[in-house]
Amino acid sequence: MCDRCGCDADLNILVLLGPPGGGKGTQAKKIVEEFGYGHFSTGDALREEVRNETEIGKKAKAIMEAGELVPDELLGAMVKGRIEQAVGSKGIILDGYPRTVAQAEFLSTFTADFKVAAVNIAVDQDQIVARLSARRFCPNCGTIYNITFSPPKTEGICDKCGTELARRKDDYEDVIRERLRVYDEKTQPVVDYYRSSGAYFEVDGNNSPEDVFTEVSSIVSSI
Ligand code: AMP
Repeated sequence: MCDRCGCDADLNILVLLGPPGGGKGTQAKKIVEEFGYGHFSTGDALREEVRNETEIGKKAKAIMEAGELVPDELLGAMVKGRIEQAVGSKGIILDGYPRTVAQAEFLSTFTADFKVAAVNIAVDQDQIVARLSARRFCPNCGTIYNITFSPPKTEGICDKCGTELARRKDDYEDVIRERLRVYDEKTQPVVDYYRSSGAYFEVDGNNSPEDVFTEVSSIVSSI
């Protein structure tokens, strides 16, 4: 039941866990296509705040570029609002949230009446560094490339819209390593939180995106 107004509206909340570059965004996109869920990426939302130079964006910019986590309170209202909007829809994917136990506890304060399932996409750290340092994106249409595994047809140019590709400031090796350190310190406890308190599933993210999705889709079908 919806805890906003007490109506019967239901909601599946799929929490995607796993290290940065582990394929959460790729899997989220496929879940949206196959299951009609909404997708909320806190990283994407923050990057938009930075682009729009909002108060949140101004506070978040340097923190994100250094590979650290932004303070929990910058995201709380945004996440709550997005979940409230999704009530009554097929479901919503949380991609990149929660990343601290405090965020997980906050989420639990307004989602107790919904089905919350966590899927951890586990990937080896060496593979993460290789994947993220080869990641490029199109600043115009948002298409993501990997210059090793899925390069554009013309080097440095988006296949879809012809815009010059860019590299996220946090996709350089020193920042990637810091993001992985932060993940181990702050987000691994979130994995343990879900493992011990609710529906928790783990998939091997070292496999191909198609194989990972076969596992992910059978999990989503079962919740
Ligand atoms: P992502 O695109 O998910 O890798 O997120 C990019 C950056 O946004 C992270 O390195 C953090 O600086 C920030 N960020 C995204 N989600 C969160 C979160 N749940 N808590 C704190 N910081 C976050």
